[in-house]
Amino acid sequence: MKPDTKWIKAAQRATTPTSRRRFTRRHRASKLRAKITACEACPLAATRLNTVPFDNDLPHPLAFVGEAPGAAEDKTGTPFVGRSGRLLDTMIEATGHIRTDVTVLNTVACRPPRNRKPTVEESAACRPLFDRQLDFTGAWVVVLLGASALNQIRPNSSITNLQGKPFWMTGRIFIPTFHPAYVLRKPNLQSTVQRDIGLAFNIVEGKEWWEPISVKHMSSRDDKLGSDLTNLIDVQGWAAVDSANLEDRIVVVADDNVKVPAKYVNHVRYTVEEMVRIGELGRGQKLTSGELASIHLVKRLGGTILK
Ligand code: URA
Repeated sequence: MKPDTKWIKAAQRATTPTSRRRFTRRHRASKLRAKITACEACPLAATRLNTVPFDNDLPHPLAFVGEAPGAAEDKTGTPFVGRSGRLLDTMIEATGHIRTDVTVLNTVACRPPRNRKPTVEESAACRPLFDRQLDFTGAWVVVLLGASALNQIRPNSSITNLQGKPFWMTGRIFIPTFHPAYVLRKPNLQSTVQRDIGLAFNIVEGKEWWEPISVKHMSSRDDKLGSDLTNLIDVQGWAAVDSANLEDRIVVVADDNVKVPAKYVNHVRYTVEEMVRIGELGRGQKLTSGELASIHLVKRLGGTILK
């Protein structure tokens, strides 16, 4: 399937900052970093040397999510600067890009003692600040490096099963792949991870698209509606998209032959046509990258516009 480059270009425009936006972003970035520095939401705060927040103040359409800082990151306060980081840089550079073309962050911002995996409780405690960082990056394509990153977004999922299989959630395309530390132990996997990273850049640049294995609904506000819709997707092949960035608006798309039960129709407040019109009027400026990505997905699915 050919990508719809119009929407990719709009998303690119939305993440290209003017100098004024650059200034406000830097200010907002330092406020968010200060929040992370002050965080004491879990016991990791007691053993860290430094917190390790996202590494790039400017908006970027592509983000990489790792597990947790290691010793080098704990010392410097910057993610992925140790051996894994150097491998990540090499793989990014092999696509013709550089590290500052993307944003890198971790599921938890503090180093767990002896580099153990963060516990479920630690990841949950870090989740609100993780979400704020991910929103702040402006990324609409996110590479999940390893099981901890995958499970922060999609709990109880297996990285072995989902590696290389992009999925859509909350207005973003997530691409799970193996963690660079795992690749350092199993070098034959480097070409696999390299391919997944290449796919991520290609999607951002509109050179490639992917066949979704599933499109899930995740409602940030209405869990009952969220799970009802998820069941409908699984059972009837519906696709529903709710981006955290869409506030209380939900977009539902369905094949022509699927009838939407009346009780859900009220929840469809924002039609694709309206989103497209606003996107065109605002030349991408007023929409968040999540919204643009939602439009992109809706168009990509060729769904019926419901009102
Ligand atoms: N491994 C991670 O998952 N994150 C880092 O920042 C460094 C190593």
